[in-house]
Amino acid sequence: MKTIGLLGGMSWESTAVYYQVLNRMARERLGGLHSAKCLVWSFDFAEIEAAQASGDWDAATGMMVAAARNLERGGADCLVICTNTMHKMADEVQAAISIPLLHIADATAPAILRAGCRAPLLLATAYTMEQDFYKGHLKRAHGVDVRVPGTGDRAEIHRIIYEELCRGEIRPTSRDTYLEVVRKEAAKGADGVIFGCTEIGLLVKADDFEVPAFDTTALHAAAALDFALEQ
Ligand code: GLU
Repeated sequence: MKTIGLLGGMSWESTAVYYQVLNRMARERLGGLHSAKCLVWSFDFAEIEAAQASGDWDAATGMMVAAARNLERGGADCLVICTNTMHKMADEVQAAISIPLLHIADATAPAILRAGCRAPLLLATAYTMEQDFYKGHLKRAHGVDVRVPGTGDRAEIHRIIYEELCRGEIRPTSRDTYLEVVRKEAAKGADGVIFGCTEIGLLVKADDFEVPAFDTTALHAAAALDFALEQ
């Protein structure tokens, strides 16, 4: 089995889910006492969030590159960035290491295509919903065209991620907000929903929606385990 390097702590609430999913899947696949071989680098998320909020992406990239190198030096065979947003600097991180970076959008796109979705709705941080690094990657590498909620809804989705989910707060009113946004966009033609932030699965579940849901955390962890177990 290969060792999975998890670049996490963004936030640790979702990194904990990666750790749990990887270990459970390893037990399901291999049986007995098997679990996933992992190295976890966990940031102090306040430092990352401060760089994001001030637009200091160079500083954030520097932190990501240094941590990725530490994981490689520590013996990781692949790198998993446990957040959609911080794939903004995926290319720079990949260029700084010699182990493969398993991109979260590459892990998610096949499930969207298999389900036959043509217009999935992306729920994510404002950075991921509004900038090109994620939507563009899905489009260019996989031909997946996503749509995003309107301005006000994007701001509220983003606020809930940082002010609640990344702090471990799960509120029914916020759950209703997410469900309502998806209902509204599905009525306008969205035919799927991407949980494009690794904490969203803590708030809502696939069963909550009439359209197919794609949880990037679970799909990314599954792709990492596939990598770790492939011969
Ligand atoms: N975990 C989140 C994501 O998947 C948001 C936190 C972050 O900014 O990294 O985008």
